[in-house]
Amino acid sequence: MNVIIQKFGGTSVKSSEMREHAASHVIKAQQDGCKVVVVVSAIGREGDPYATDTLLSLVNKDRSYIGHREKDLLISCGEVISSVIFTELLLSKGIRAAAMTGPQAGFRTNSDHGDARITEMHCEALIDKLKEVDVIVVAGFQGESTDREITTLGRGGSDTSATALGAALQAEWVDIFTDVEGVMTADPRMVEDAAIIDSVTYQEICNLAYQGAKVIHPRAVEIAMQAKIPIRIRSTMMETPGTLITSVTGGAVGADLADRPITGIAHMAGLTQITVKDKDYLNLQANVFKEMAKANISVDFINIQPYAVIYTVPNELADKAVSILEKKGYSPEAVKDCAKVSAVGAGMTGVPGVASSIVAALAAENIQILQSADSHTTIWVLVKGEDLKKAVSALHRMFELSSRSVQK
Ligand code: ADP
Ligand code: MG
Repeated sequence: MNVIIQKFGGTSVKSSEMREHAASHVIKAQQDGCKVVVVVSAIGREGDPYATDTLLSLVNKDRSYIGHREKDLLISCGEVISSVIFTELLLSKGIRAAAMTGPQAGFRTNSDHGDARITEMHCEALIDKLKEVDVIVVAGFQGESTDREITTLGRGGSDTSATALGAALQAEWVDIFTDVEGVMTADPRMVEDAAIIDSVTYQEICNLAYQGAKVIHPRAVEIAMQAKIPIRIRSTMMETPGTLITSVTGGAVGADLADRPITGIAHMAGLTQITVKDKDYLNLQANVFKEMAKANISVDFINIQPYAVIYTVPNELADKAVSILEKKGYSPEAVKDCAKVSAVGAGMTGVPGVASSIVAALAAENIQILQSADSHTTIWVLVKGEDLKKAVSALHRMFELSSRSVQK
């Protein structure tokens, strides 16, 4: 049985016109002789009646009295509705299809409501069903904990649903259909002439995704990488092949990387930079991060200097972080609304001058660098939010990411 997975995101199922496009991809794969397991997200974005944020707004007006358990119950409905509507469309076209919830399809998770991790897949019922029908439409983003509670997998969770099914069913590949033509050298909402990348490695896309390129969830990539299942990121509206994600890029392995020091530019907005200074530096370093961890505040972009620690937190946690530090007797400084821009590339190792070129490109645009760091695959800079678009464009231009063909 040749199985493929096809995942359709919120915008790909938002209207009957879009669902027609989506259905045409499913029908084509089915006619090519594959059994198709479709994963759908909830229909549309906030404002659309059954979108995740709309459902949440039903209970989240001023203050919400329900907890994460009930919120998961509520928002899991969005994907269930979407799966049934899409199944009906397929049936209306004469395709043998059936809908399944995440738990029915076999998703077992831990109990971390709102951001649950998949722990096991029990796909026996789905495999049985696949003997009766040609297409199963699974509600993405959800599962069931060992104590049989409904859980959800966090933002971007349907991507993870898709690759987890791909791994469990040993699918030929996983198609992630979305509103862009593939993985691009930068978010096309930031850089108009961003180029489509024909092929990337799991590692490259994982790095881009962790740095904010939300075209696919990084956890989804890790699952596919472990199971060695190729992913294709494609446009629902078009027939174009999109971006192929495997363990090697197209063309000669190795030769490609030297030509491509930078794969793309990713960004993450909405960060606050916190600086804490104290003469007692040994205690300072230990205390600050212990307190942040105790309060469950995720910290990033940590720079430690002799008498100061500098790091970022999401804007919405900044006030909490500052008040905790003040209670401990520190006088933290906070710069709100910063953004992290990352130049990501597996071929950057040993290529001289990348960091200095970045500094020069930003200086030429009068963009102040608030902080920077680098690893063998990524260079990060923190800039003010108002400089974000200019900074992403400047780096994109500097590395000539739009002009050249990325396919080798
Ligand atoms: P879906 O609902 O289909 O999951 P998302 O909105 O989660 O879609 O992801 C697609 C979006 O990711 C695009 O509309 C684009 O703005 C954004 N994006 C960010 N970085 C990139 C990138 N490097 N390449 C392509 N898209 C990107
Ligand atoms: Mg998404």
